[in-house]
Parts: sequence; structure tokens; C-alpha cells
Amino acid sequence: MGDYLRLENGVTVKIGTAGDDRYMRHDEALQYLALDIGGQIDGNLKYRDALWRFPYPGEDRDGLMEIAQRNMFHVITFKVSTRLLPDDHDPICVSVHAVNDQGFGINRLIPCPLSKDDKVYATNVPSPIVQIYGERYDEAGEARTVFCCGYCEKPFSLQGDEELEGFRKAFMDFHAEYISGERKCPEWAIEIAKRFRAARLPIGASP
Ligand SMILES: [Zn+2]
Repeated sequence: MGDYLRLENGVTVKIGTAGDDRYMRHDEALQYLALDIGGQIDGNLKYRDALWRFPYPGEDRDGLMEIAQRNMFHVITFKVSTRLLPDDHDPICVSVHAVNDQGFGINRLIPCPLSKDDKVYATNVPSPIVQIYGERYDEAGEARTVFCCGYCEKPFSLQGDEELEGFRKAFMDFHAEYISGERKCPEWAIEIAKRFRAARLPIGASP
């Protein structure tokens, strides 16, 4: 199962699965559209809920072979201030076992630790962690970055410039404070933050 780009010379590259197209970026899909013979790029570009790969700066020069080898589930985690967190969260499924016994395991849904329903145990206060998840495009061709909650993975997008600037600053601050050694690269963090986009048009069913 999957969505593919197919070239005349027989090369086939996976772009995603059922509209989750996080092998390929939207700009790459536009670039390869004319070369696609019988693949699904055209349909996925027209599908407004398609989730594309976030344009990570280190992948700007990737060719088809690099695109094919990407990890579509790659995300970048960072911390935002609690006031920037969305209110909406999904429950999380956890496995519970009878103490000192390998059997009697059951699954239970617990509230997301960042939701209002969470009960804090002792000093286990959760951090307001989010992840860069991908991009969606509206009918005017404008991108919005899709983020998700770091715990329950509920996706959301940003509304308006104030939220956008808040997330950009949070990302750069997080990089400056928590990343050290060879991985520290302020220019990379600035470039990532610049590529965040807020929704311009009212969004439909998907954030
Ligand atoms: Zn959550």
C-alpha cells in the first residue's frame, strides 16, 4: 500500500500512504509533477488534507534517491510556553499489568499529560512539548505548518501572526538552551523557524 511517483524510465519513489505524504515535500511534488506517468502526485496535490514533509533545510538539495530513503516519521521536538499549547488533546493508550504477574494485562486510555484532565502524580509535571509534524496547503497554494502535541500526537496548526512569532521564538530559544556540542547550529534553528507558516485561510477537517 502506498502513494507513488512513477517515472518513464521505470523509477518508482514512494511519496506516502493514503495522503500522509511525508516522504516528499510539496515543492518537490510540484517539481516532479510533469515527470510523473501514472503515479499519484497529481491526485495528492489536489487533495487538500494531504500531509507533506516539512521542508527541513538539510534536505533542500535531495534528489529522488534521497527522497526514497527518507524516514517519513522524522519529527523535531521542542518546548513552547504553556500559553501557546492547544487545548485539544487525545487520550493515550497504556498497557497495565497486575503487579508481579506477567498476565492479566489490559489496555487503558489515560488523559494526555498536557490536557486539563491530567492528574499530576507527585512532582511529575509534564513539559509543554510539541513536534514539527509536516505541512498542509490550502486552495490558494499557501502552506501551513502542522505541529503535534509531544505526548498524544494530536495535530494542530497555528492561527495568526502572534502564534507564529511565538512558535518561531520558542524554537530558537529551545535550540539555544537545550542543544549543545556538534548539534548546536543557530543558523539552522533560525532557518527552521523562518519556514514555520500559520494558516491563512479557514481550515477544514484537518489542522
Ligand atoms: Zn496532547
